[in-house]
Amino acid sequence: MEKRIATPTVTREILADYQIRLSKALGQNFLIDGNIIEKIVNIAEIKSGDQIIEIGPGIGSLTQALLERIEDGRLFAIEKDERMVRILKELFQAEQLTLIHRDVLDIDWPEFFTENALLDKPVKLAANLPYYITTPIIMGLLEARVPVERYVFMVQKEVAERMVAKPGGKDYGALSIAVQYYTRPEICHIVPPSVFIPQPDVKSAIIKLETNETPPVQLEDERFFFQIVQAIFQQRRKNLKNSLSKAANIRLDRELIEESLQEMGIPEGTRGEMLDLSEIGQLSNILFKGMEDKVN
Ligand code: SAM
Repeated sequence: MEKRIATPTVTREILADYQIRLSKALGQNFLIDGNIIEKIVNIAEIKSGDQIIEIGPGIGSLTQALLERIEDGRLFAIEKDERMVRILKELFQAEQLTLIHRDVLDIDWPEFFTENALLDKPVKLAANLPYYITTPIIMGLLEARVPVERYVFMVQKEVAERMVAKPGGKDYGALSIAVQYYTRPEICHIVPPSVFIPQPDVKSAIIKLETNETPPVQLEDERFFFQIVQAIFQQRRKNLKNSLSKAANIRLDRELIEESLQEMGIPEGTRGEMLDLSEIGQLSNILFKGMEDKVN
């Protein structure tokens, strides 16, 4: 494909040639602004030889720019819509590109990395994500702990704000904690609806997640920590003592909760959403040790 796909004219031409009606249900809002594509590729610092995974390539506006930058690298593009896969096959013949016709949520990431020999060198992810499944895609990747050095995603602005949120505000929640535990998130650019066809109802943001080599807090038990996070934010209007003692996913006795809060010098009436990541980590470590001591 010689022409730039990320322009209103070429995008409309391709969609008309293939008689495509874009699907709202699949979050198909295509980028038609070359400057925004350039920003994504620059923020991701895509360079020759890189191994990239793109989620939801659509008709290839970002794919095209990625392929130009990686030269002899490799690009894996995962797309659910068969019509897009057919178009991409006709538009791109580059041997660096592997097209995968699948629902991204069905991908077992450790298996995917092994099968595609992606474990020896760091991988970058770049995507204009389908907004309706942003959180499961990101959580699935982070929890899989595959060797991704950097994620650069176009997401809904509100979701980007939740990822970078600090304690106290309405945006702060389980997503903020998980993203900030695994990565260092940064909102790089706010993007208006006018750079997409069709225009979404919401503003967007380019977010960069830089993977933490060592987590920002040392945990006794990671699974237990995320159970505590879930308990705190599922009942965010309750104070810590109540939300922890009513946690559906773990049985914590009130005495242990009281002792643990006291040890940390946290007043019992404090709401969990006031604690930062390292305080929640510390609290979960104290509770975990307390539970172990009771068993032994
Ligand atoms: N990258 C293109 C662009 O920027 O113009 C398209 C981005 S569009 C926001 C999201 C893309 O994700 C669409 O092509 C859509 O078909 C695809 N998609 C939606 N749900 C998907 C899923 N579950 N698995 C893989 N791809 C999906």
